[in-house]
Amino acid sequence: MIEPDIYPAPWSPEQVTVYEVGPRDGLQNESRSLDVGVKAAFIERLIAAGVRAIELTSMVRPDRVPQLADAEALLQRLRLPSDVRAVVLVPNRRGLERAMAFGVREIAIFASATETFSHRNLGRSIDDAFRMFEPVVSDANEAKITVRAYVSMCFGDPWEGKVPISRVVAASRRLLDLGCHELSIGDTIGTGTPGHVRALIDALVDEGVKTEQLAVHFHDTYGQALANTAAALQMGVRTVDSAAGGLGGCPFARSATGNLATEELLWELHGLGVDTGIDLVELARTSEWLAAELGRPSPSRAVRAIASRLAES
Ligand code: MG
Repeated sequence: MIEPDIYPAPWSPEQVTVYEVGPRDGLQNESRSLDVGVKAAFIERLIAAGVRAIELTSMVRPDRVPQLADAEALLQRLRLPSDVRAVVLVPNRRGLERAMAFGVREIAIFASATETFSHRNLGRSIDDAFRMFEPVVSDANEAKITVRAYVSMCFGDPWEGKVPISRVVAASRRLLDLGCHELSIGDTIGTGTPGHVRALIDALVDEGVKTEQLAVHFHDTYGQALANTAAALQMGVRTVDSAAGGLGGCPFARSATGNLATEELLWELHGLGVDTGIDLVELARTSEWLAAELGRPSPSRAVRAIASRLAES
């Protein structure tokens, strides 16, 4: 069995939700587009390995994100077990309607803590983005659909540089007041460090945000993702975003490493004694298979280490 030895820390959580973003955030940022059948097989393999929270796809305009142009065809194909938390990203009201046609019970919206990224990514100011989110969140809540909100650029912005904590707190507060049930605090360019994570979560809690309302979304661009995850767990955060095999690269730096790899997160969590219900080896096999479909090696060190141990035995 390829697993870390278990040494619980005094702050080891009893349970952590591993929120898998590979099929959406990961594949959206890969240069090669996959066939819808491969995507469906990928999601089925994630579920078979024990993953229970997955962002499936995004209802964005096909001309803007060609990698996810098959969102409807994908949802049509999937038969999801009832205990899977399945989420679809929607950019606007039209996207919400398209998702609702498939009986989606949870959606995600994508917000920015900084003005520059809001303009670059959404083509509008933060205020205008909120005007766009408002009807989406209220219509969703009315239909008993829960809403997760991504807050991007929380630890740094490639155009603005340093992002004040107060700005992240303000955007977060506003999203919760709108009716979002969970915030995914994103280190979009991967520059955050553990002390920064502590300071930001402290400031959010001071503003009345509960740690149960928080998820963290770290990128490993500067190798800080697992250290930052440990800091967030120590602060009481219990939902961590990651992408199988480290899918997605980094959209803002030409490095191989973007999203925290789920296998690396599992190595840390399982070593801390957290039972995630996910079969690490099965997941690593899935990531190896998908890397071959994408025509490049997996950027995840854990995937490569597990693959070489499997090859030896
Ligand atoms: Mg990401």
